[in-house]
Amino acid sequence: MDFIAYGKRVLGHLYNGKMSMKIVRDKERLSKPCKSVHLEEGRKIGERLLKWLEKHEGAVGLAANQVGIDARVCVVNVDRPLIFVNPKVVGKFGAIKFKEGCLSFPDEEVTTKRYRNIVVRDEIGGERIFDAKNLLETVCVQHEIDHLNGLTMYDRKLNALEVVPTVQVPLMR
Ligand SMILES: [Zn+2]
Repeated sequence: MDFIAYGKRVLGHLYNGKMSMKIVRDKERLSKPCKSVHLEEGRKIGERLLKWLEKHEGAVGLAANQVGIDARVCVVNVDRPLIFVNPKVVGKFGAIKFKEGCLSFPDEEVTTKRYRNIVVRDEIGGERIFDAKNLLETVCVQHEIDHLNGLTMYDRKLNALEVVPTVQVPLMR
């Protein structure tokens, strides 16, 4: 199956609620970086992704390519809804060990290397800082932006020989 091309036709389906928001589980499809998107189109896709999240208990983040949309848009909702359009992690520090899951690989759990502090730049929020005050959100943002770059949690797997602090927070995205 191919990626659904991003364009008016696809958006039309999204707005009509006709598009099936089926989660992509194919590693090869998920390894393709997403295309940049215009701010207003990105915001609309983001709102649609947030609605999807609301309906799925336990899900706290979603990237557009996980539902077959080739656009650099992702959302996070741990305890507040956040939309990211064309986001980029521009700073990260404080490596931590984290155990995480992914909606695209529902039965798997991977111990990853993440960061407790990150700076993200995107077209909605400008430059935003995420830190250890809400670690689940901070890690989730990293996970979702990774998806847009064609990376999954497997690409962040912690090297067994590397020692980083452990953080015990269950994570499902
Ligand atoms: Zn994921």
